[in-house]
Amino acid sequence: MRAVVQGGGVPDCPRCQVRMTHRPIGGGSFGLGYHRQREWLLCPSCRRSAIFDVRRGTRL
Ligand SMILES: [Zn+2]
Repeated sequence: MRAVVQGGGVPDCPRCQVRMTHRPIGGGSFGLGYHRQREWLLCPSCRRSAIFDVRRGTRL
């Protein structure tokens, strides 16, 4: 599941096999802090939620 997120995909809920919704959590302006982005995953079926730190392969 974590590997799917880090690959830029949206994981399925391990309980319901439903694709979870995801929305990025930003700590300020859009486009800042992209190297340390968090995503909030929420299952629309069982309301299971999880927050992941997503490291994208941006090199600057
Ligand atoms: Zn679920």
